Amino acid sequence: MSPTETIQHVLEAVDAWEATWGRFERHAATTVEPETLAHALTDYTERLRGNYPFFHPRYAGQMLKPPHPAAVAAYLAAMRINPNNHALDGGPPTGAMEKEVVRELATRLFRLPAETLGHLTSSGTIANLEALFVARELRPERAIAFSEQAHYTHGRMAGVLRVPTVKLPTDERGALRLDALEDVLRVGNVGTVVCTAGTTGLGTIDPIEEVRALCDRYDARLHVDAAYGGFFTLLAWDDADDLLGTDARRHLRAIARADSVVVDPHKHGLQPYGCGCVLFRDPGVGRFYQHDSPYTYFTSDELHLGEISLECSRAGAAAGALWLTLRVLPLEAEHGLGPILAACRRAALRWHELLGTSDVLQPCSTPELDIVTFRPQLEDASRETIDVASQRLFDGAMNDGDDPIFLSLLRVEARRAGLKEEGDVRVLRSTLMKPEHEAYVDHLHQRVEMIARNVVPA
Ligand SMILES: *Cc1c(COP(=O)(O)O)cnc(C)c1O
Repeated sequence: MSPTETIQHVLEAVDAWEATWGRFERHAATTVEPETLAHALTDYTERLRGNYPFFHPRYAGQMLKPPHPAAVAAYLAAMRINPNNHALDGGPPTGAMEKEVVRELATRLFRLPAETLGHLTSSGTIANLEALFVARELRPERAIAFSEQAHYTHGRMAGVLRVPTVKLPTDERGALRLDALEDVLRVGNVGTVVCTAGTTGLGTIDPIEEVRALCDRYDARLHVDAAYGGFFTLLAWDDADDLLGTDARRHLRAIARADSVVVDPHKHGLQPYGCGCVLFRDPGVGRFYQHDSPYTYFTSDELHLGEISLECSRAGAAAGALWLTLRVLPLEAEHGLGPILAACRRAALRWHELLGTSDVLQPCSTPELDIVTFRPQLEDASRETIDVASQRLFDGAMNDGDDPIFLSLLRVEARRAGLKEEGDVRVLRSTLMKPEHEAYVDHLHQRVEMIARNVVPA
């Protein structure tokens, strides 16, 4: 079935379901003149053309790609009905689907215990907010520690929650430094440590296994922000495959021993935006969410997801889309989602290798997932010249008439770009999160090299 046929198929099924409920008159006030609609649609689709081609492998910039057609069809079908996963009253089927997919993410992807408590959220930000909220409730007055490469959301949400924070330095990979963490833990005021499995900038995986051991020794909790990299854990369970490397595998496997985990199905889970997820090893933390709802929770004695979530209304369609996606592309290393992630990873390794042999570009960090960073190579490489050259390459690639390439810029410490100076410098960053990048990456590299020769002064 083509994507269009898939969509048609599910929408017809919703039509057929609606028809079983008997005829009624639509209110005239909702009627729109066909011509008005046609004009508005033309304007709308014309404006959408102003987007960058996220679907195409020539877009190798931010963490952004369209959802899988199965997710689109499932989302549209459920959205026609518009269930609200706040309570089972708002739509029992998608409520049940949410519980199923959360369980799959917990037990099949991360191998957390079966009793793990969790729910979908509208984003990784909200999911992390909930994890930090629980961290505060369990360890009141104690700080939350995270690295300087952790997503900015941690500092911001800790501010919202009024929890003290400790920012830890990182090593040459961009990973949280264990010696610095131990110094801080020894003082004894840290209640929860945040590890990132795939930092948003470089895709670095913190040493989760060693951090878990330190947390045990110093009685701290461990939260893993796997918003970006979490889905790569699928590949970590496959003993035969060393695509990720031994350390990355070891640390991704150690997520199984975290106290809480966040993963974003709207990043590497093929979902449209509006799909994050938070998981708690101890289902007892549900008590912190306790509240009364005078409006809902009437149709069933079973757990209503609103009872364990800070958000109220949540799209049932998001749960439906993830449920259908995991039915057709299961959480397996060998088939389903695994091969998609593996192709992205191989594309990143290949580009890193090509960058290493280039005379106009040079890689910055070694990719640990599917994010590649690089910069122009210059005779007089300084913070200033590299910064300007990166910007020119970024602009030049995007504006190259018939064959544009879309990259993104990342501000890093100059030492990460191989410079001896203090301060920050902008370099190029590419997220190769589409499996199509694997076949396209040689072309991508040639194009970026060619553009660099044209726009970057020798
Ligand atoms: C994307 C990301 C977030 C924020 O998630 P949103 O879904 O964008 O709100 C948090 N942490 C990491 C590591 C991320 O990559």
